[in-house]
Amino acid sequence: MSKVHYKSVEEIELIRKSSLLVSKTLAEVAKVIKAGIQTIELDKLAETFIRDNGGVPAFLNYNGFPYSLCISLNDQVVHGFPGIYELKDGDTVSVDCGVVLNNFYGDSAYTFAVGEVDPETSKLLKVTKECLILGIEKAVVGMRVGDIGFAVQQHAEKNDYGVVKELVGHGVGVQLHEKPEIPNYGKRGSGMKLEEGMVIAIEPMINAGRAGVKFWKDGWTVSTVDGKPSAHFEHTVAIKKGKADILSTFNYIEEVLKQKD
Ligand code: MG
Ligand code: MG
Repeated sequence: MSKVHYKSVEEIELIRKSSLLVSKTLAEVAKVIKAGIQTIELDKLAETFIRDNGGVPAFLNYNGFPYSLCISLNDQVVHGFPGIYELKDGDTVSVDCGVVLNNFYGDSAYTFAVGEVDPETSKLLKVTKECLILGIEKAVVGMRVGDIGFAVQQHAEKNDYGVVKELVGHGVGVQLHEKPEIPNYGKRGSGMKLEEGMVIAIEPMINAGRAGVKFWKDGWTVSTVDGKPSAHFEHTVAIKKGKADILSTFNYIEEVLKQKD
């Protein structure tokens, strides 16, 4: 992970463009998520959409990662491989997407329910998204990295969920992963000071059961130790005074999901 890159206003606007392309890509994926589709089809569609819009999939070939999307099913936490698996009703599918456009990176993730999921899983998705929003509320000048983690952890643990510690959010923009690391746990008032010009990816990974994870022999996939579901929501966010500037958006996705209902 490289150093902290402080961005100019112009650079932040370029990161917004990259992040919005990520958001639109996730909305394209949202359109076709349904029982019977293979996850590799989602990957192909995303790659085509990103390239048609002048971008490059940021994950493809990153440290040897072989796909454009990370697609993590059910008890998989992050970094899952797309493949021939066909989605079925009741699955959850976390889709993480990164884009390079005009040399700047955006990064965002959303966990989708396929058809009807059970009420416990539905609650996990809702609470994980709330964790992201609560973390973002702390992503302002004057706060510290630990304030974000504290907010995320407190909300997750209040709901008896496990917070994944082995993987963390990160600075983003000039590179896919920059300093500082943004853990989903922490102490209030601890860690690096948040300053104007910092752009970070906040990405709670929350488990329905225990916090522990296992790392697969494929070198990438991470899943829960107890086999219970996990959820992942991520935004790229610019640190500002008073209120964070969220550069990615779930609006496109949620428009699509509303129309599918
Ligand atoms: Mg991501
Ligand atoms: Mg990320």
